[in-house]
Amino acid sequence: MDFDLIVRDVNLPDGRMNVDVACRAGRITGLDTSIGGSAKTVIEGGGKVLSPPFVDIHFHLDATLSLGTPRLNQSGTLLEGIALWGELKPLLTKDAVIERALRYCDLAVAQGLLVIRSHVDVCDDRLVGVEALLEVRDRVRDYIDLQLCAFPQDGYFRSPTAARNLERALDMGVDIVGGIPHFERTMAEGDRSVRALCEIAAKRGLRVDLHCDETDDPLSRHIEALAFETQRLGLQGRVAGSHLTSMHSMDNYYVSKLLPLMAEAGVHAVPNPLANIVLQGRHDTYPKRRGLARVPEMRAQGINVAFGQDSTMDPWYSLGGADMLDVAHMAVHVGHLTSRDAVRYCFEAVTTNPATVFGLEGYGIAPGRNADFVLLDARDPIEAIRLRAARLAVVRRGKVLATSAPRRTELALEGRPATVEPWRYAPPPS
Ligand SMILES: [Zn+2]
Repeated sequence: MDFDLIVRDVNLPDGRMNVDVACRAGRITGLDTSIGGSAKTVIEGGGKVLSPPFVDIHFHLDATLSLGTPRLNQSGTLLEGIALWGELKPLLTKDAVIERALRYCDLAVAQGLLVIRSHVDVCDDRLVGVEALLEVRDRVRDYIDLQLCAFPQDGYFRSPTAARNLERALDMGVDIVGGIPHFERTMAEGDRSVRALCEIAAKRGLRVDLHCDETDDPLSRHIEALAFETQRLGLQGRVAGSHLTSMHSMDNYYVSKLLPLMAEAGVHAVPNPLANIVLQGRHDTYPKRRGLARVPEMRAQGINVAFGQDSTMDPWYSLGGADMLDVAHMAVHVGHLTSRDAVRYCFEAVTTNPATVFGLEGYGIAPGRNADFVLLDARDPIEAIRLRAARLAVVRRGKVLATSAPRRTELALEGRPATVEPWRYAPPPS
């Protein structure tokens, strides 16, 4: 056999059409219009799009699939979600967290989601979540790249043991440094936490990902401190500001000054459209603000924007299903990102852009890269978002991990076609 795997006749997200992709020993070895030779496994692409795997750059694996335990979030607010999680935390057991996280990872693989950055709450002196997710990271190593972020949910300064626990978690092997400046007691304390957390990351040579300004308060400006500290400490490219929802409500003049600072500092922006369209605007009457960071404006400044899912069936968001196309679909709507170019950008914001935030090597469909990809039941990335397309095949290191049937419905209408296949409704290529 010449190859382990050939995927024939696929389109690529960059617009190339009808190519073959050949893989050997876990890597992509050939990419051309027609590759000869034999392979142990052949997947017929049928003119559908082959994407690198989805990347969820913002998630909470310790809380996922806990919906309703011990009760539901009645107000729908972020603050009730945090309070509810606080009620659940003392009840957590390591085995239960592992079981929920592994079950979620099964779903993630089925959805072509093979790269996840998960926050793990360190405001529990037992560090049950940390122990559990470190074990999960090991157990899923062969099918998911899982990066863990030490997250002081109750505030780095506000929670009396958070600082010590955060260092303990990093010593135990958690990958990166998290924080939540807008949850500290004052704006000044929030900024002080940004500085302290960035200094820890600089000292340890780690990345940073802070929950930052997840509020509708236009004066919540910790992202400014985060960008400043990134520059001061030489952390360019290693720092992400997650949520940034206050940016939605900020003064326009202030934003015109903030965005160039973020771009200069090389800070990544991580909006979470699904969670924040329901968590934000809860103190508004009408009109209700959307609470999404200014994606088109950040993009225009050259800031790397990546979308996260944040939650699936937990105290903050009761729906979700490891579907990054759902996340992109919501972003298209909430952010008015409806031009063809902008919809394509939303696809990049759940694939290549978050891979950059993660610091992932070997990602992307090109010779020499890892043989990791997803065949979608759609012709191109725009169609994939429109249809929230089925994942026909999910491949990692050249091995098929999951397959699904294409969507196809039998019709019983007099004088009309016998079947409907949604992907065939694609408009002419633009
Ligand atoms: Zn989060």
